[in-house]
Amino acid sequence: MKDSIFKSFRFEVVLYSLLSLIYALLSEAALFFGIYIIYNIINRNDVEMNQTPIGDAINNGINASNSANISNSGFSDNVNIPNNVNVPDSGALSNEAVTILVILGVVIGIVLFTVYLLLLTKKFVTYLEEISQGITQIASGNFHTRVSIKNEDEFTIIATKLNKMAEDINVLIENNQKNENTKNELITSVAHDLRTPLTSIIGYLDLVSKDGELTQEMKHKYIEIAYNKSMRLEKLIEDLFAYTKVTFGEVTMEFTDINLVKLIDQLLDEFYPSFQEYGLDSEFSTNLSTAVVRADGAMLARAFANLMSNAIKYGKDGKLVKIKLTKSHGKFTFVLTNYGTLIPEEDLPYIFDRFYRVEGSRSSETGGTGLGLAIAKSIILAHGGNITAKSDFEGTVFEVVLDEKKEGK
Ligand code: ATP
Ligand code: MG
Repeated sequence: MKDSIFKSFRFEVVLYSLLSLIYALLSEAALFFGIYIIYNIINRNDVEMNQTPIGDAINNGINASNSANISNSGFSDNVNIPNNVNVPDSGALSNEAVTILVILGVVIGIVLFTVYLLLLTKKFVTYLEEISQGITQIASGNFHTRVSIKNEDEFTIIATKLNKMAEDINVLIENNQKNENTKNELITSVAHDLRTPLTSIIGYLDLVSKDGELTQEMKHKYIEIAYNKSMRLEKLIEDLFAYTKVTFGEVTMEFTDINLVKLIDQLLDEFYPSFQEYGLDSEFSTNLSTAVVRADGAMLARAFANLMSNAIKYGKDGKLVKIKLTKSHGKFTFVLTNYGTLIPEEDLPYIFDRFYRVEGSRSSETGGTGLGLAIAKSIILAHGGNITAKSDFEGTVFEVVLDEKKEGK
């Protein structure tokens, strides 16, 4: 837009100045020509009526002269040439008359030029006023204001940038509002999820401390329940910290080179006791010896661990958990498959939402917080990757795609 000199404000000003000059000259010529015609008609009538010597002289002069000295005839009306004035036979104008004619011509020319220039450049002033009003509106907090985009000159650039600025501020405010709402929703659900185990902990501890008739065995049982509930509370708080930190960008990631092959091997070792406990087999297949990504090792390990613990928790009836790591077009794909309990189709779109648990899971002995997948997703997204899930007769499959480490980074 700004590259074209022909569309620039400077060019338009020069163009309109030239146009104003041409219009002024044409208008002036038309004006003087009109006066000449009128004078001629009046003068011819005078000559016919009273053949005065001065009339003859002027007529002779006019008839013999060109359009320039015709103008003088108009002038003669203004300066009141007395009857006894000596008008030259040739029809030439006196010096005084020429001077006055020139001054009159220049003054009329300047006035006409100014009027035309003001009329032609009026659109700039109107547009500037519109931009100025837009700025006032935006400054007063009305970020939905938009200045209309006209022409393609420098003012258009200002208007476009102004609109962009208003739009950016608007998006920023909306995002802040959204974040604020998310935090409020989070506080509400957290308060709810914290209260439930806390109420039972208080209840059981109250029983133990106040009921003197409780047997030692019962006391032990209630304390154990309270302890388990406290453990659950601790996990919830820990998960919440992890989730809010990653989601609201309150954690600084320390990116290093992470070899996914090694990371998966370590996770499988770490989860070995759980696999044993649930009688599950694990199978890791890859044709890659190394798979290096830029990542925060602890974070990425946490995301994969959440997926792995789900695969064990919800796939314990499936007997086998499969992991596959492949590479294609500079991206690594990690695929984790477990069998057993499927995720119903209607729940699939929501399983990455915080606190979302498939109906039945919440009350079942798997008793999680519903934050595991939300945390995993936040972490993967923070690494510029992607995570998806599907669940059908081929099993429940979680797929994570991460960019390969680029050379020189
Ligand atoms: P948390 O992980 O916070 O302890 P959670 O496991 O219930 O609790 P998510 O990990 O977010 O929460 O999982 C959400 C829901 O998705 C689970 O409740 C479960 O119903 C379903 N789900 C997740 N992973 C699997 C899987 N591998 N197989 C079957 N269902 C799954
Ligand atoms: Mg989980």
